[in-house]
Amino acid sequence: MDIYLYAIIFVMGCLTGSFCTLAVYRIPIGRDITHERSFCPNCNHKLGFFDLIPVLSYIFLGGKCRYCGQKIRIRYLILEITSGIILLVYGLSLNMSFQEMTIYKIVQFFFGMIFITAILIIAGIDKERKQIQKQVLIFAIILVFIYILYLSIVEKTNIDRYAIYLFFMFVYFCIYLCDRISKKPRKNAIGFYISICNLIAVIVGNFTM
Ligand SMILES: [Zn+2]
Repeated sequence: MDIYLYAIIFVMGCLTGSFCTLAVYRIPIGRDITHERSFCPNCNHKLGFFDLIPVLSYIFLGGKCRYCGQKIRIRYLILEITSGIILLVYGLSLNMSFQEMTIYKIVQFFFGMIFITAILIIAGIDKERKQIQKQVLIFAIILVFIYILYLSIVEKTNIDRYAIYLFFMFVYFCIYLCDRISKKPRKNAIGFYISICNLIAVIVGNFTM
């Protein structure tokens, strides 16, 4: 049943959201995002496996740190659920189903998942620090190029509609350049709003195909 597939996709989205909140916090200060264990920012206690399950751990722990009782901000829960919904809608836009699971669909899905992760991280860092994070932007640009090459060479599909991805990469790049040139810290989170437009454009683009 596809309902199970979409349940899995939702959980993957929540995990993505959990990773994004960690990345938004760690990347700008140059901390490792893959090997270092998460810890409570209040008591510094390392978090165990069961403390890290998105959404559920928040609910079962009553929104508090298991070790020191410090309240965990509700925005983490909201961000995880929002990411879950975004990936779910993306999956729907691709019309994913167990019956028609082709390599093409799987590649499309995983590209989308990684792309959405990168965009959410760019959005989060821009919201917090009013800057486009260079490493994440470069990663997203390379990802988009590889995907478009894959589509044109392997799948031999028409790639015109994927110009929207390049367009948004160009917009991010312009914002990044403007920030570098102006040298003054920006006051608006333009990169965050662009990211919302980007996600909407990608998903609506899929639905209309
Ligand atoms: Zn704690």
